[in-house]
Amino acid sequence: MAGGPPGADITYLLPEAQSAIGFAIPLNKDLIRPFLAKELPNGRADHEDDNINKNIRAWEIAKDVRDFLRQKGYKAMSVIPNNKYREDVPGWQASLPPELSLRYLAARSGVGSFGWNGSIGIKGIGTPIILGGIVTSAKLEPTDPLPPEESFCDECKLCTRVCDFQMFSDKEETLVTLGGYTFSYSKRINKLRCVLVCGGCAGLHKSGQFSTWSPGRYDYPEDNYEVNRLMSLAMTHQKKRPEIQDYSKGYNPSSFGGMGKVQLTCGNCNILCWGDKVETVKNYKILKNSGCVIQKENGEILVFPPEKAKEEFEKMDPKHQRLYYKDYRKKIRRKAEISQTMP
Ligand code: SF4
Ligand code: SF4
Repeated sequence: MAGGPPGADITYLLPEAQSAIGFAIPLNKDLIRPFLAKELPNGRADHEDDNINKNIRAWEIAKDVRDFLRQKGYKAMSVIPNNKYREDVPGWQASLPPELSLRYLAARSGVGSFGWNGSIGIKGIGTPIILGGIVTSAKLEPTDPLPPEESFCDECKLCTRVCDFQMFSDKEETLVTLGGYTFSYSKRINKLRCVLVCGGCAGLHKSGQFSTWSPGRYDYPEDNYEVNRLMSLAMTHQKKRPEIQDYSKGYNPSSFGGMGKVQLTCGNCNILCWGDKVETVKNYKILKNSGCVIQKENGEILVFPPEKAKEEFEKMDPKHQRLYYKDYRKKIRRKAEISQTMP
C-alpha cells in the first residue's frame, strides 16, 4: 500500500501496522433486480436490508479476525466498512478519504480489481460486494494484485449512464499507485454529486426518463457552484420529507452528522455491474425502464412512467412539491444575465 494517497495509509488506524487483510462478501443478487426495477412494495426495503446486514456481517468478520490476531499476541484493528472518513484531512467533506480504503486494499491484495465505476469487482460476481479489512502489527506474506486477464470489467461504461448527476467521468481516468503497482478507474468529477443522489436528496436522472428510489426531482447541476448550492437546499428539504413507507428504515451515516438517517435509494453504478456482459445489459434495461418515483404526503412511494410521474407531481399540493423540487438555478441564471448586461 506504500506510496498511495491518505486512504492507503495502514498506520492511520494502527501506528504499529505492518500488514492489512482484505476480504469481500457478495450482496444477494436475487434482491438487486427488484430494487433496480422499483418493484413495490418491498423492492427497495429488501435490498437495503441485505445491504445493511452484509455491512454488519463484514464488520463482525473483521472483528473476529482482529480478536484472533490479538489472541496471538499481535496488535490489530478492524476497519469500519462504510461511511467513516478521515475527518483530520482538510476538506474531507468533499474528498471523503476513508480511514483505510478497502478498495485500495482489495485491489492491491488481489481480492478483486477496479472497474471503471471505481468499485472493486470479481469476475462472474461483479461489483455488488461489501468489502472488509483489518490492519495488524503481524508481518504477513503479501499477495499480488489480479492480472489484467482476470479483470471483470470490459469498459462497457454502462455504469456511467446510470448515475443521475454524473459523479464520474466516462472518459478520464484516475491513477493510483499502491506498493509499486498502478491501478486505474474513472475520474471522480465531484463526490458531492453522489452525496446528493446516493444520500437520497435527488433522484431524477438527467434524461428525465428514470429515477432512483428518491422522489427528489431537481435539475441537473452543471458545475461545482450549482452542486454546492443544491447541497444546502436539497439537504434542508430532505430532512422535512416523510420517511419512505416500507419495512426497512435506513441507517445513520457515522459521518455527515447533519444528514440524519438515510434510506438507500441508489448505488446503481455498483449494483448494475454483475461481471458478465449479458447480465449487466439486462440490469441496465431494467433500470432504464423502471419509471420515476413520487412520494405522497404519508411517505408512500408511487412509481409511474416518466411523463405520468411529472403530471402526478404537478397535481400535488405546492407546499408538498417544494420538498422535492425548486428551480435553484433561476437565481444563478439571473446573476449571469445581469453580468452580461453590465457595461
Ligand atoms: S458497468 Fe461494469 S464492466 Fe461496464 S464499465 Fe462499468 S464497471 Fe466496467
Ligand atoms: S451511487 Fe448513485 S449517485 Fe453515487 S456514483 Fe453511483 S450511480 Fe451515481
